[in-house]
Amino acid sequence: MNEIPDPEINDRWIVSRRGKKNAVDPQKPYAWLVEKELTASGKIEDTAIIFLTNLECSYHCLMCDLWKNTTDIPVPAGAIPHQIEWALHQMPAAKHLKLYNSGSFFDGRAIPEEDYPGIASLVRNFETIIVESHPRLINERCVAFRDMLKPELQVAMGLETVNATVLRKLNKRMTLEDFENSANFLSGMDILSRAFILLRPPFLTESEGIFWAERSLDFAFRAGIECCTVIPVRGGNGAMDHLKEKGLFASPDIRSLEKVQEYGIGLNAGRVFADVWDIELFSSCRLCIGQRTKRLEEMNLCQKIPPPVTCDCDAPESRQDECK
Ligand code: SF4
Ligand SMILES: [Zn+2]
Repeated sequence: MNEIPDPEINDRWIVSRRGKKNAVDPQKPYAWLVEKELTASGKIEDTAIIFLTNLECSYHCLMCDLWKNTTDIPVPAGAIPHQIEWALHQMPAAKHLKLYNSGSFFDGRAIPEEDYPGIASLVRNFETIIVESHPRLINERCVAFRDMLKPELQVAMGLETVNATVLRKLNKRMTLEDFENSANFLSGMDILSRAFILLRPPFLTESEGIFWAERSLDFAFRAGIECCTVIPVRGGNGAMDHLKEKGLFASPDIRSLEKVQEYGIGLNAGRVFADVWDIELFSSCRLCIGQRTKRLEEMNLCQKIPPPVTCDCDAPESRQDECK
């Protein structure tokens, strides 16, 4: 681990590094799309994602850039169902729906509880609804929402990393025990859960990044999580760029993402997805980026390990193993 002393990382420091938010409309989601995903039952099916516009998350995690598309004040009651209805009219049909709100679905200031019945009614024709939440906001409210739904509910939570020192520095305000308790609570209620796992958060070298992402997969599956998404960490939120300048953070390499996903699939414990959003940020080799991206996408959809990509960039001297 990089031993250079880290700055005093707290809410104030993180927020002070930010740039401006994007202009958003409380009556419209800020994005929506449909993508293929391998379901828990083993079928490749269309999954819609609606990125809801709502109040900024009350946590201020070091690596998070989701605040960019949020409001400063709570959206009025009725706005979230309106956004969902509006987006569903724009999008092709899909069997599954992710409602991602740049924070926690079960934060009552972000998604008013009085909107739950309206949301449940709008999504009744889907087979699965997936929402995201900070682990510490998992409670009876999830069960109340689940009980209103016709589709099956799945909840995604950020585990981030099981390196306890780094987790503390991420300012997530969560312990591994908190995460485990929430995963157990959801399993006990027959609610499937997903975990987001970071590949190479700040303060780690490339090889440490791989090591801790793999240990995080081990931990998540042991805790009863059904599906994990590995997210290569990027800069761009101000705080991370500052750490990069100080030599405390560097984005991981696409080959490390392949390695971690191979490891996760090899565990045979549940689905393991690699986040390929902005994947070109994680490669400096124009020769193999296309093939590697295709390989990651194939692993996402098939959960099998295809033959490796070979390229000149695999030579040991071209690999980076320190924060730069
Ligand atoms: S809890 Fe999630 S949305 Fe909120 S700041 Fe942390 S990473 Fe971002
Ligand atoms: Zn290459």
